[in-house]
Amino acid sequence: MSTTAVRTPEEYEARLRDYSYERSEEGRAVRVGEKEVSEQAAIVARYADLFTEAQIEALREAEGAAGGDERERLYRLRKTCEGGLISAQLAERGDALENAIIATRVTFRGREMPLRAAQARLAVLDLYADREELGDLERTASARLNPDRLEFLTIAEDLEAEVTGDADPIARTEEEKGISLRDLERALVAASDVTTEPFLRLRERWFDRILGPDRDDQPTSGHVAYVRRLSPLASTYSKERAVPVCLETTLALGFDLTAIPNIRLDLEDRPQKNPRACVIASDPPEVVHLITLAQGGLADYQAFMHEAGHALHYAGVDPRLPYTFRAISRDHALTEIYSYICEAITREPGWHALHFGLSDELAAENAQATVFLEALLYRRYTAKLRYELGFWSSFATERGSSSRDYSPLLTEATGVRYDPRNYLSDMDGGFYSADYLRAWIRSAQLRDYLREEVGEDWWRSAQTGEILRELFAEGTRPSSEEIAGRLGYDPLDTAPLVADLSNA
Ligand SMILES: [Zn+2]
Repeated sequence: MSTTAVRTPEEYEARLRDYSYERSEEGRAVRVGEKEVSEQAAIVARYADLFTEAQIEALREAEGAAGGDERERLYRLRKTCEGGLISAQLAERGDALENAIIATRVTFRGREMPLRAAQARLAVLDLYADREELGDLERTASARLNPDRLEFLTIAEDLEAEVTGDADPIARTEEEKGISLRDLERALVAASDVTTEPFLRLRERWFDRILGPDRDDQPTSGHVAYVRRLSPLASTYSKERAVPVCLETTLALGFDLTAIPNIRLDLEDRPQKNPRACVIASDPPEVVHLITLAQGGLADYQAFMHEAGHALHYAGVDPRLPYTFRAISRDHALTEIYSYICEAITREPGWHALHFGLSDELAAENAQATVFLEALLYRRYTAKLRYELGFWSSFATERGSSSRDYSPLLTEATGVRYDPRNYLSDMDGGFYSADYLRAWIRSAQLRDYLREEVGEDWWRSAQTGEILRELFAEGTRPSSEEIAGRLGYDPLDTAPLVADLSNA
């Protein structure tokens, strides 16, 4: 590795594009169940020359001499190089962990199934007692992987401290995201607190309707996937209509998803397919995969709309932008604004009336159910961020050995009982929770803006599409906070979000 020539930023960017493409495609194949074995390590080995100390230094030097957008581009290339150096050393362990998850089985009522199939099944089991039983089996099986997860996380953190030269995971994250996590936390907790009362009303009502009168006062997290499907409404939001309705919904904004060849739809059911919908932008705007697995219920529609927002963003990127500003971002807070705004359409009573032939009263009631879900998830993520901040600020001494306040914080915020054993599996890397939460604030601001500019019909207006198209064209260049400025909001202004969550 040490004999490899150091590349110029342009050569580096071009080769990085090939590498990212291959890794994305490999990740996709495993995620959708086309491949049973993850072989990321082989790809990483083939591109090992991309990720060297010397290359990081060269990029850092070029960055120091540049200004404006060019400096930002070089910063992102350097951070990607650092990240690659870290993941090259983690790839084998990462594959081993992924393969261990794939190999984990749960036996429920005499039937053996992969862990991921058990997770998918929890969303569709109609009996409360069945979900209790399978939920516990799933958590127990998943918890057996905790030593592997912890080992991976610890090694990853140590490597990151070493490569970046910054041993403080929180300061490191704040530098990269360009925000204060503590200020964000304060704004989020305040918004969560002032919406507690409407949330409690919604929760009692919808928990009773979805889980039945015999439910536990605090149901376990094994019921959450089922709650998110809003099963009592499942016959209205059928599995079969999910794709056609969502295609019509995006078409009303002026986006014909079936006529955008760059967006490749994967709607197939395979046993090892991860039930969580996602977009994999292997080479934006050229190659963008939109992956979902319909299981029936409103959640399919919400997941599809969410991912459609990501797909339209990446497929709508101006192809003339340098690769870095088409594909690489400091974090995910920007693209999540666009997924959230598309998903927000499913909270419009008019959308329910239009596509499902409901009376205004019923449409309003079902839309209220989606506000409840939104509030539940928002509170869950705010609690997650609080827990993660504690977890990482004490990492130097605790080394991730304790589940800390994971269970009490999440349980208190949501009224759902979270198992402390989930404290590692329920954590995405790099404070992704903070990116989601920034998008929660921002998409509510954007919706307010669209209401002003377009009107109450923003969710079915081509004018909304025009506004979004212009934002998409900018690729991954702007930060979420820059978008706030353009819409005329302070980045931490949660007033539109609070109005959204109280609207019940
Ligand atoms: Zn997303």
